[in-house]
Amino acid sequence: MTAGPDEGLLAAARAALPGMVALRRTLHRHPETGAHLPRTQQAVLEALDGLGLEVVPGAHSSSVTARLDGARPGPSVLLRADMDALPLHEETGLAFASAVPGAMHACGHDLHTAMLVGAARLLAAHRRHLAGRVVLMFQPAEESGGGARHMIDEGVLETAEGGRVTAAFALHVTTRFPSGTLHLRPGPTFAASDGLHVTVRGRGGHASAPHRALDPVPVACAIVQALQTLVTRTVDVFDPAVVTVASIHAGTAPNVIPETAEIHGTFRTLTPATRHLVRDGITRIAHHVAAAHGARADVTLTEGYPPVVNDPARTAALHDAAATLLGPRRVHHLAEPIMGAEDFSYVLQQVPGAMAFLGACPPGTAPEHAPDIHCDRVVFDEDAMATGAAVHACAALHAATLPGRDTGGRDT
Ligand SMILES: [Zn+2]
Repeated sequence: MTAGPDEGLLAAARAALPGMVALRRTLHRHPETGAHLPRTQQAVLEALDGLGLEVVPGAHSSSVTARLDGARPGPSVLLRADMDALPLHEETGLAFASAVPGAMHACGHDLHTAMLVGAARLLAAHRRHLAGRVVLMFQPAEESGGGARHMIDEGVLETAEGGRVTAAFALHVTTRFPSGTLHLRPGPTFAASDGLHVTVRGRGGHASAPHRALDPVPVACAIVQALQTLVTRTVDVFDPAVVTVASIHAGTAPNVIPETAEIHGTFRTLTPATRHLVRDGITRIAHHVAAAHGARADVTLTEGYPPVVNDPARTAALHDAAATLLGPRRVHHLAEPIMGAEDFSYVLQQVPGAMAFLGACPPGTAPEHAPDIHCDRVVFDEDAMATGAAVHACAALHAATLPGRDTGGRDT
C-alpha cells in the first residue's frame, strides 16, 4: 500500500457523485429485468463513451465488458456490477420511482451499475497509477439466473494474452448497515440456493370416507415437519442450513380428498458437504415418510447458484486497502454469511476474489428498521455510491500488490 494511487480518490469519487446519481436515477426510473436490458445497456455504453476503454457489448445478452489498460504492465483485475431489476411493483413514492409497472430496482443493481461507471471514470483519470488491466463486468440476469455464467462463457475472465484475470471483486449495497461502511469476510459469504419440489401421490375419494382413499394432505404435512428435523438433528450448527417450504397446494373442495399434494421450497447451504447432506436428506425423508403412510413421493431438486466463497488473501487485501482509503472505522469484518444467493459465485469459482457489502441505509433511518433489499419500499442512500466507486477503483489500483498472482482455475 503506497500513498500515491489513492491520493485524491475519495475526493474524485465525491466529485463524480452527481453523474452517478443522475445515471442511477435514469436506470431506476426505467428498470429492466432478465437477460435483455437494451435501455440499460445503451445508458452504460453512453456513460463509458470517451473514457478510452475497449468496450464490448455481449453477444447473447445485454452485458457490457469494458477493459482499461494501465500505464504499466501488471495483473488483470475484474470488477463486477449487476444491472437487472426485479419483477416487483415499486411503492417507495420517490420522485424517480419506477415508471414500469411490475418492475423495480429493489436490489440496488442500479446503484451497482452507476458505481462501476463511476469507478471507470476514476480509473481512467488515475491511469498513470494503474499497473495492468481492469476488466469491468456489467452483467444482466443476476436475479433470473445465468447472467454471470453467460459472460464467463463469452470470455469475460480471459485476457487477450491467453491468460486469465487474477482477482475479481464485487460490491452489494444493503440497508442493513450505515451508509458508506464496508463489510466483508473470508470464506462463505452468500449461500448455495437450491430448489425442492415434492409431489405426494395418494388416492382421491370422498372427504367423509378417508379410509376408502389415501389422503396425501397429512402425508405432505408430515414431510414438511420431518424436513425441519433434518435441519436441527443432522446439520452441524456451525455449518448452517435453511430448508423452507414456502408453498403447499392440494385439493379443490372441502369435501374431496385430492389425488396429490404439492410441496415447493428452497434450501440454502454454505459448504458442499452440507449441500449434499441436505439434498440426500430431503429425498430420503420425502420417499420414506410417504412410504410409511402407504403413499408415494416424487422428488425433484433443482440446482441453483453455488455459494459465494471469498478468497482469504484477496479479502484481507481489499479490507486493508479500503481501511486505508476510508479509515478503519468504516471497514468491518462481517460476522456471519448471508443465506441469500448471488451468482458472482460462478466468477469466484474460477478466480480468487471477494464480494463485500456496502452499507447504503439512508441517514436518519435505523438499519434494523429500514426496508430490506427485495422489498417494494426499499430506499438507498445514494451518497454511498461515492464510497463504492472509490473502493472499486482502489481494489483495481492495488491489484498489483495482491498476493499470489496465480492464474485462477481454483475450484471451491
Ligand atoms: Zn442483488
